[in-house]
Amino acid sequence: GTSLFDYDLVIIGAGVGGHGAALHAVALGMKTAIIESADMGGTCVNRGCIPSKALLAAAGRLRQLQDKEALKALGISVEQVQVDRSGVADHAQGIVAKIRGDLTRSLERLGVAILQGWGKVVDPQKVSITQGGKETLVTARHVLLATGSYPWVPPGIGIDGQTVFTSDDALKLAWLPPWIAIVGSGYIGLEFADIYTALGCEVTMIEALDRLMPTFDPDIARLAQRVLLVGRDIETKVGMLAQKITPGKPVVVELADTQTKELKEVLEVDAALVATGRLPATANLGLESLGIGRDRRGFIPVNPQFNVLKEGSAISSLWAIGDAIGTMMLAHAAAAQGRAAVENMLGQGKTVNYRAIPAAAFTHPEISFVGLTEPQAQDLGQKQQFPIATVRSYFKGNSKAIAEGDAEGLAKVIYRPDTGELLGVHILGAHAADLIQEAATAIATHTPVQTLAEIVHTHPTLTEVLDEAFKRASLSLTKP
Ligand code: FAD
Repeated sequence: GTSLFDYDLVIIGAGVGGHGAALHAVALGMKTAIIESADMGGTCVNRGCIPSKALLAAAGRLRQLQDKEALKALGISVEQVQVDRSGVADHAQGIVAKIRGDLTRSLERLGVAILQGWGKVVDPQKVSITQGGKETLVTARHVLLATGSYPWVPPGIGIDGQTVFTSDDALKLAWLPPWIAIVGSGYIGLEFADIYTALGCEVTMIEALDRLMPTFDPDIARLAQRVLLVGRDIETKVGMLAQKITPGKPVVVELADTQTKELKEVLEVDAALVATGRLPATANLGLESLGIGRDRRGFIPVNPQFNVLKEGSAISSLWAIGDAIGTMMLAHAAAAQGRAAVENMLGQGKTVNYRAIPAAAFTHPEISFVGLTEPQAQDLGQKQQFPIATVRSYFKGNSKAIAEGDAEGLAKVIYRPDTGELLGVHILGAHAADLIQEAATAIATHTPVQTLAEIVHTHPTLTEVLDEAFKRASLSLTKP
């Protein structure tokens, strides 16, 4: 039928969030356009998940080939392993181009209009698109902001893109610095530490907070530190602030005590990777002129249904999702939020259950988790007056892991011993990022450990690591 609007939905930003929302919207019958100023696919496809996993794939193969002991145990010997840096880099860029092409074609095939240019909100149902100095206006019943994020660089750190860089440049793998300092021990820093050490670089990791991997469960962080850092001769500087980094040959890194800000140490390294977090790309989006305030770091305020908030009240036609709102800065979280927002445009009241969204670091071995860490579970238990319990299950007791010669790892399950409710699951070990999905499904469907314990797992598989944990948790439930 005829409409007052050019589109039912206009999306600003063609990252994973915007792309997922567009596909869902057309599937539900909405006439949809997507605006992108740079490469289709956004951070994840071009500068994030995809190229990093391609580099990690090379790192993983290399580690297997370098582990002469493990190979010998399988009856295999390898004479000489050679790596060609540019071959590794080309493979990653080839994968990026393929996935970007697939994603663009899927939008075109389903009839999503792709509009190149810089999008700006003129009013909650009107967007301007600027391309090559020309501005066009489109109207839409709904406008969705999915503009994503960019690397945050702390003050005092000079980025030249050659010797001091963020993940944006590191993923191009332009050269292999003999010694690289990685600032930040979050999952991005950890994944690059894995890539660089596999490729023969020496890595020093700097963390400003008083413990490494501050977002992971403490037990997992401790084991990860032993396996992924100490085991690879990665030196760590904890509680140390990289307060000044000067690019050049050498790169000069000035480390101060985080608390006192007193200069403690100066490193002269070949390169530095700054992985200290990300900020939302929400400037110059027209929000100020609409009176929409952003928080201190620039995140767009939304309600649980993803309507943008203006002075606390929801704007019914303006929505925001993904890294731009910062609730959980992961590709699959952005996509889930996008689908929920689209359904809410059609009158639903969908929210996203973040407790059931898994996360992973694709190191070797991988780390994954879903739900609460033990300290978070303890806090919640104290507030809401319920007991918590934990069980651990080790990969070294798993037949498949033993057969594969890759049995380093741990699964930790946090649950309520009174009801069997699953509160959090944390895994370090081979294929942890895939294994966590069972726990995510269980949390999403409120399946208690006593039910999980009855579900039969294929033997021999790594899934039996969680199976064992669920069975032990079930046996330990407090009898009424
Ligand atoms: P983005 O992907 O950032 O897309 C936003 C898009 O909007 C961009 O293309 C941008 O050009 C465009 N844009 C912005 N403003 C405008 C404007 N005004 N007009 C037009 N276009 C505009 N997540 C995972 O889940 N798994 C991983 O393994 C993983 N690995 C990562 C590795 C690295 C090194 C990094 C940096 C990130 C990784 N992430 C990973 C995080 C993931 O990339 C992000 O959470 C995800 O890309 C967010 O999607 P988005 O759609 O919100 O934003």
